[in-house]
Amino acid sequence: MHELSITQTVVSTITQRMGTARVRRIRLEIGKLSGLVPDAVRFCFEMVAAGTTCEHALLEIDEPPGRAHCRSCGSDFATSEVLPLCDACDSADIAVLGGTELRIKEVEVDPACAQPADAPTGRGSG
Ligand SMILES: [Zn+2]
Repeated sequence: MHELSITQTVVSTITQRMGTARVRRIRLEIGKLSGLVPDAVRFCFEMVAAGTTCEHALLEIDEPPGRAHCRSCGSDFATSEVLPLCDACDSADIAVLGGTELRIKEVEVDPACAQPADAPTGRGSG
């Protein structure tokens, strides 16, 4: 299960970056050609996030479509294949331009927990 190790990496990266701030929303980008199944990532996330600051965070997943460029005839085309052939000339000399993304696009934390340590405190001694 590839998704489990990926999800563990995502959660541990976020918890290390964000410290103790409670994570409200996570936006991932998982390309159509990445080989990962978004539903499986969601399932693993529930498990992996339990007991961490990511627990109950809203998980959003963007799925950029596959795009490829043919080096033989120069045409660009959309694809859902990991190893596509050119639509126009059937060449296999292909450069994949998009759809293999796998990254954390956005993390939103609870504002109450995200205050910088050096924020001015307006405390009066009246
Ligand atoms: Zn071509």
